Amino acid sequence: MAAAPAHAAAAASSPSRRLSSFAPQQRGHAQRCPFSPSLPNPLRQPCHHVAPSALDPSSSSRRLVPVYSSSAAQNPILWHLQQCQQQQLQGERAAEGGHGGRIEWNEDDKLREECGVVGILGDPQASRLCSLGLHALQHRGQEGAGIVSCDQGKLKSVTGLGLVSEVFGSDPSRLDSLTGDSAIGHVRYSTAGAASSPHNVQPFLAGYRFGHVAVAHNGNLVNYSVLRARLEESGSIFNTSSDTEVVLHLIAISKTRPFVARVVEACEQLEGAYSLLFLTSDKLIAVRDPYGFRPLVMGRRRANGAVVFASETCALDLIDADYEREVNPGELLVVDANGKVSSLCLMPHRDRQACVFEHIYFALPNSVVFGRPVHRERYNFGATLATESPVPGGADVVIPVPDSGFFAALGYAEKSGLPFQQGLIRSHYVGRTFIQPSQEIRDLGVRLKLAPVRGILEGKRVVVVDDSIVRGTTSSKIVRLIRDAGAKEVHMRIASPPIVGSCYYGVDTPRSEELISNRMDVEGVCREIGSDSLAFLSLDSLKVSLGEEAPTYCHACFTQNYPVPPKENEVARAVL
Ligand code: SF4
Repeated sequence: MAAAPAHAAAAASSPSRRLSSFAPQQRGHAQRCPFSPSLPNPLRQPCHHVAPSALDPSSSSRRLVPVYSSSAAQNPILWHLQQCQQQQLQGERAAEGGHGGRIEWNEDDKLREECGVVGILGDPQASRLCSLGLHALQHRGQEGAGIVSCDQGKLKSVTGLGLVSEVFGSDPSRLDSLTGDSAIGHVRYSTAGAASSPHNVQPFLAGYRFGHVAVAHNGNLVNYSVLRARLEESGSIFNTSSDTEVVLHLIAISKTRPFVARVVEACEQLEGAYSLLFLTSDKLIAVRDPYGFRPLVMGRRRANGAVVFASETCALDLIDADYEREVNPGELLVVDANGKVSSLCLMPHRDRQACVFEHIYFALPNSVVFGRPVHRERYNFGATLATESPVPGGADVVIPVPDSGFFAALGYAEKSGLPFQQGLIRSHYVGRTFIQPSQEIRDLGVRLKLAPVRGILEGKRVVVVDDSIVRGTTSSKIVRLIRDAGAKEVHMRIASPPIVGSCYYGVDTPRSEELISNRMDVEGVCREIGSDSLAFLSLDSLKVSLGEEAPTYCHACFTQNYPVPPKENEVARAVL
């Protein structure tokens, strides 16, 4: 398991950490660092941090602001320098972006699902249906897309960097070449360093002693480095930096027969999160890890009964397939050439640990994930938040941060009896990548995506509902945007608990120390983003909302209690 920083452990156990809401008694914090003119500033540009003593010299605020280091909390100069270094770190990561120095406008400060998968067997239009399914799952990965089809026992592959429409829409001959009645497809998002590598785009297609196999993977293996080192020691050569390749090697070196037994043997050596689709000359296989971290559903096309697998039901809807059931945690489903489905179990059995963030943010609201409609879960989280954290003194209007905060805001508004309004408009036409080297111009980026509706916000006490806060960078821009549009007060309400830990199961998260709620308590976050009050949905309320299924969900990014401890700290965040 990744070692939790000492300050994080202290913060987690402190009474203030356990609070999930904060409303400062007075507004009007100083927004400029009083020390910047006289201090060596690593950024060589004005600093906007608020030093602990500047907030309220007479009060206990030093105890409340960033729990970054106790000595820094007592020493404003040291504190300032640490904040500047933190800002510099964030700036460097943003500037790197893992894309050769390009700046990504879509840095909207969210956790990112890393992949989506689709598979189909029994339809002569398999690859075209697959591409439509991938369109529906585009929110799960925008860096690369690929499809492998099977025609009369021969596997054919097309993969490329970019959106599904860029890979398959720009050149119709690509889909034309993917003939056959079975296919698997994949969309991926990647972290730094690997996005630009076409080698990492899935599905992977490989030959072994008894034929060819293609694989598409959603998830992340926590024992990837251990397995890879073992395989390399015995002579395996790797083409990619993806953990998925390990699975192919394990299948290739397995001594068991038939192929399905090889897959079982390989999967039983994997630890972590995997929803996998395999395509061979005569079979489609779907496997979900014993904890069931990532979703995987099965359906059938109404027109011809073709079997379809997908990460979310929204992909089934698009291609006229009826949802049949989930692939159960630890289950392996084999579909033969005639469409007959058989089920096998991986050993050992585990208690399910489904990713609760699928309900909070990742999945589309029109999907059913882990057997629950996503829009209903989000609505309930928002309604619970309204009961748990009303705005002291009342508010005039509830607005969502579009699009992911929509249903939670609706739930909040209806429960609190406040009007629901679309106070921020999201532009759907912002390109994914701009080259903008200046921080000042990058800061304007949020306005490209979100435009405030002055007529709704002016003179109002506004409740803004978002799904989560990761680094806090976008939240502060949104608060500023709403204030600039004339709002009298801005109260942030977050429909999930504070994120304090990185994810090791297939979600791209910043390092723990970059997560704002890991660095500071709710009061500190409230000051940092500049809102009049801030409240998160408490973990207890989240669990109540999930009902008796609550123990079957992973909450590790809120608690740092990892159901499968990572075997290596950073290497385990390998890219899919
Ligand atoms: S750590 Fe968080 S994001 Fe990762 S699987 Fe668990 S709940 Fe999901």
